[in-house]
Amino acid sequence: MGIKDNLYQVLSKIPSHVKLVAVSKTKTADEIMEVYNEGVRDFGENKVQELLSKVDVLPKDIWWHLIGHLQTNKVKYIAPFVHCIQSVDSLKLLKEINKEAIKNNRVINCLLQVHIAQEETKFGFSEEELFECLESEEFKTLHNISVGGLMGMATYTPDEAAVMKEFTNLKEIFGRLKQKYFTASEDFKDISMGMSSDFELAINCGSTIVRVGSSIFGERPKKM
Ligand SMILES: *Cc1c(COP(=O)(O)O)cnc(C)c1O
Repeated sequence: MGIKDNLYQVLSKIPSHVKLVAVSKTKTADEIMEVYNEGVRDFGENKVQELLSKVDVLPKDIWWHLIGHLQTNKVKYIAPFVHCIQSVDSLKLLKEINKEAIKNNRVINCLLQVHIAQEETKFGFSEEELFECLESEEFKTLHNISVGGLMGMATYTPDEAAVMKEFTNLKEIFGRLKQKYFTASEDFKDISMGMSSDFELAINCGSTIVRVGSSIFGERPKKM
């Protein structure tokens, strides 16, 4: 099957209230255009350098999501155009994004990445760190960011029950944060969880954004 067939296969499993972000890391502009031409506008990349090289050659109405770990010194390169930074994992990074957003006279959408997996290698806030961040005086001064919700990655395992537990945990953390800090905010509404191997499960657990790469574009070269 080609990319277009793959895309429709994936779309058929996504209800209309859930947004698809097509994860295009390692894929070429031509491959991305195959998906774009079917109407998809949200694309996800995990590396700043690679994202920059694609932005120049692809249509301007693409909504780019950064989904990989972001170093503070690289925020300035994507601040002019990025639609959403899904992988915010520290207050320091939020402050830098806010600073660059001011320079660009815009508000940048962010999701807070939560560490829900067993793997130590994955990034993200713990629940305790989230509370700390959101309660800090510094956070309250950041007017050029919009916190749209949470992002998380489950453990990479065939154990569905374990994955489900992690997704449910993220959904519950979202509920607690919403109640405590965002009752008045319409922006705080998204839970980005679910990838090729587990997006249907994630949707059943309350995901509102799925990030799907290999099921659409095909397998990537190992370890990118
Ligand atoms: C690569 C990646 C995805 C997509 O992974 P697939 O298994 O190819 O669907 C989703 N989220 C993040 C953060 C990623 O790095």
